[in-house]
Amino acid sequence: MKRLFLIFMFLLSAGTVPAAAEAENPVLFFQGKMRQGEMLFGFVTPGAELRVNGEKITPRKDGWFAFGIGRDETGTLTFSAEKDGQKTVRTYPVSPRKWDIQRVDGLPQNTVTPSAQEEKRIIEEAVLTQKARQKKADMPLPLCFSMPVQGRISGVFGSQRIMNGTPGNIHSALDIANKEGTKITAPADGIVLLVHEDMFLSGKTVLIGHGQDVVSSYIHMSKIAVKEGQKIKKGQEIGRIGMTGRATGPHLHWGVSWKNKRIDPQAFLKNSEKFCPPAPKKAARKAPKPPKKRS
Ligand SMILES: [Zn+2]
Repeated sequence: MKRLFLIFMFLLSAGTVPAAAEAENPVLFFQGKMRQGEMLFGFVTPGAELRVNGEKITPRKDGWFAFGIGRDETGTLTFSAEKDGQKTVRTYPVSPRKWDIQRVDGLPQNTVTPSAQEEKRIIEEAVLTQKARQKKADMPLPLCFSMPVQGRISGVFGSQRIMNGTPGNIHSALDIANKEGTKITAPADGIVLLVHEDMFLSGKTVLIGHGQDVVSSYIHMSKIAVKEGQKIKKGQEIGRIGMTGRATGPHLHWGVSWKNKRIDPQAFLKNSEKFCPPAPKKAARKAPKPPKKRS
């Protein structure tokens, strides 16, 4: 926190320097690790053109942006920021991570090896969510995110799943298990991009946009408490934990993505925490009461 404060002070002071005859190199700053499955928040001098490995990213007008690194990305990331003929270029290697293998048994066999009809439905529903992810939500960044529900972590991001003995997809979210009906709340402000009452694999599904292509998803719910297009505030109810769609027990499958990349929600929370207001200091404990005298 202290280091972040210093960076902010630096950014503030940089902004007050009177315009010199020579243009200065754009400021480029990140919060987060250059590691597989991470999502970083960044700041660039407003108005600078930002590129990552040549591909353009459009930051907010105030200079903030988000940037995600896929689970299987390797090599280096070169960020360049250009303004008034001045350029700042930084290159970082992407740190690899080790991923778990998780066995999931007892799933209805048709959800692991679906029929042609079911396969068609899965694809159509994937297109729906893909389209919803592309909807723009203009929210201020960076946001302070919190866990959407309390419970036991029953599945982590990135694990290779063996379903009923067959190698399945990579698990691209965080599973949080708790009793059916446990309240799920918005981890940050956002706009509801998609509400679906019955997806073949995901069951009751909600997607929320948080701006700069950051989207969070809520799957297998027993009840949905929001409507498509609704603006929601951090802490507001999204729905309840359930086991609709392909699930062996009640849990929330919580996904976070940037553009079409799936991000590790746990790593994301850690980066985002830095932007949360400091927790209020705990009130001093009251002095213990003197024991009652026996009469
Ligand atoms: Zn899951």
